[in-house]
Amino acid sequence: MEILDKSLNFIEQIVTEDLASGKHQEVISRFPPEPNGYLHIGHAKSICLNFGLPQKFGGRCNLRFDDTNPEKEEMEYINSIKEDIKWLGFDWGDHIYYASDYFDQLYDWAVLLIKDGKSYVEDLTAEQIREYRGTLTEPGKESPYRNRTIEENLDLFTRMKNGEFKDGDRVLRAKIDMASPNLNMRDPVLYRIKHAHHPRTANKWCIYPMYDFTHGQSDALEHITHSICTLEFEDHRPLYEWFLNNLPVPSKPRQIEFARLNLSYTVMSKRMLLRLVQEKVVDGWDDPRMPTIAGIRRRGYTPEAIKAFADRIGVNRMFSTIDFALLEHFLRDDLNKKALRVMAVLDPVKLIIDNYPDNQEEMVEADNNPEDENSGTRQIAFSKELYIERNDFMEFAPKDFFRLSIDKEVRLKHAYFVKCTHIVKDDTGTITEIHCTYDPNTRSGNSTDGRKVKGTLHWVSVKHAKEAEVRLYDHLFAQENPYDVAEGKDWIETVNPNSLVKIKAYIEPSLTEAKPSVPYQFLRNAYFCVDSKYSTPSNPVFNRIITLKDTWAKLQKK
Ligand code: ATP
Ligand code: MG
Repeated sequence: MEILDKSLNFIEQIVTEDLASGKHQEVISRFPPEPNGYLHIGHAKSICLNFGLPQKFGGRCNLRFDDTNPEKEEMEYINSIKEDIKWLGFDWGDHIYYASDYFDQLYDWAVLLIKDGKSYVEDLTAEQIREYRGTLTEPGKESPYRNRTIEENLDLFTRMKNGEFKDGDRVLRAKIDMASPNLNMRDPVLYRIKHAHHPRTANKWCIYPMYDFTHGQSDALEHITHSICTLEFEDHRPLYEWFLNNLPVPSKPRQIEFARLNLSYTVMSKRMLLRLVQEKVVDGWDDPRMPTIAGIRRRGYTPEAIKAFADRIGVNRMFSTIDFALLEHFLRDDLNKKALRVMAVLDPVKLIIDNYPDNQEEMVEADNNPEDENSGTRQIAFSKELYIERNDFMEFAPKDFFRLSIDKEVRLKHAYFVKCTHIVKDDTGTITEIHCTYDPNTRSGNSTDGRKVKGTLHWVSVKHAKEAEVRLYDHLFAQENPYDVAEGKDWIETVNPNSLVKIKAYIEPSLTEAKPSVPYQFLRNAYFCVDSKYSTPSNPVFNRIITLKDTWAKLQKK
């Protein structure tokens, strides 16, 4: 059947065909994380895809924890995974499953394969199994244990289950084809012995099914229609189908592979992320520099930005690394719409208005977000002494410097025009005070005599401002491809030593009541949010979400 809608990705086209032909009435997909770490942006792509299909075509997406490896920290990981999926805005309803729910069924199916002469107990060691397996260019060799009788296999497998053997003593293998050009078909291991406590099945089992023997059958048991996975599993597909064809499964899902997401300046393997956490290179899985969902949430990313990014990169089968700047582009786009505009000074120098009455204070009105007409306004205290950014003043300014300089006039945002008269320096030559006069007739932000100024500076009132810790983040890795290290070097050495810089800043008083999920634009600086882990109203901590400059959009214009 011909598909005309070119706007659909190749998986959506398959689904459209299957619905049109009547093969399926709805889409049942699943997201199958292994609870051995926190989810990262790559997982977000898979979540958007798997949960997005039923949203578009009708049906549902199951959440299935692939817990075939007993893991100690499993509960922490399970909880974080659920939280992250919900935060992204997706819902599995009642359809939460665990591969361990199927251990009994999988065991029965393993026994069935033995009875059918399609599986055998292997006594060779792991190393011998590897040797016998052959290579891509050489066929494998059949194990001397391959032709055991069904009775002997049943006896040994039962005894494996009953705990009579030690870890690694024996495995159960499928009897497929040791000469297959596909290594996955050379008698893959189905079960291994592991005397370990499982968080859900406790000590019931001392044998655990392998991923390949679990995954497809779990899909079949849940009546998954389209089982979407990343390209590494393409070579596993014949095995996936072999199990479906050799077992009395209740349905036959179709496996479809797509290319995983890779991003520049970061790593996205849970094993590597775990090492960063364990070696305390970062402050936990939710460190705002981590590419984990928990990390970028704490950093101030929005679900909408991630979804827009996932939408844009699309779904295909080509290996590629996406420029981190593209993700940031969608983030800026979203923050620009939502962020409340406030004033904070990150590198302060004092500005004193000599002709402003000493103890006078007044409130000036500021719009909260010019991009959102419903966002309202607020009052900000203005007084004689202010902080402005040190780099908004230059003693010897070139012609095109439109900020403050001696004898030059600028606008103070939401307030008056000020003109610099003189400056004061300390012994080291550092400027400590910038003295100005103000024009009381410019309160509206404009002069009454048609006089124009080019520069508008942000400021906070010295008397009213609060101190805050501000954390400036950069890429966690100093090089675009952290994997690209010289021989003998460790990828962890490519961590960017300047990825976190902490500074003291002065913020508008209103910001001490900021909530972590609310993004702010510190005018002319960057986007920020309150840190959910360390910030308190008396000691506010702000994370820089992202700078204002869009490097990606700029590159596109070149
Ligand atoms: P990692 O390599 O980080 O450990 P994984 O594939 O082992 O990832 P799982 O928990 O098994 O992690 O992944 C759950 C689902 O997320 C799988 O369907 C997997 O294909 C998908 N996934 C994992 N990483 C990516 C990625 N970078 N891009 C897209 N999908 C991904
Ligand atoms: Mg995996």
